[in-house]
Amino acid sequence: MLKDRIEPIVKKFYDGVAKGTYYGRKCTECGAIEFPPHLMCNACGARQTEWVELSGHGKLLSFVAPGIQNDKPYLKAEGKYGYGAVQMDEGPIYTFVIFGAGKKRRDDINSRLKAGETIGVHPKPIQRNGWVELCFELD
Ligand SMILES: [Zn+2]
Repeated sequence: MLKDRIEPIVKKFYDGVAKGTYYGRKCTECGAIEFPPHLMCNACGARQTEWVELSGHGKLLSFVAPGIQNDKPYLKAEGKYGYGAVQMDEGPIYTFVIFGAGKKRRDDINSRLKAGETIGVHPKPIQRNGWVELCFELD
């Protein structure tokens, strides 16, 4: 059953985040890395993947500020934030909450990205009702 196969993967990922270790799954066929980890490879569809440890560091690809309808009080309590696409140093791209800037810096950040500047990000896991959520923060 799918649930029985994915639960240990999700647990290892979140246990890792809580300890500052960032696990992904690397496809043994094409080498693509899934982060956060999935059961199968989304690049080629292969079923065989293996655990790899990522540095946790990445770069921002885009940045948007939350609108009034999707501004989350539990995130706001941690500081200014937005949402962004992050490319990990090892390659995989995923969307995360990004701390360290909000609406006022949105246009500046996107102008810098458009000009080709690299804006690094590192993990900022936050505690939420007994579980950890992986967010990122500007370097
Ligand atoms: Zn693959």
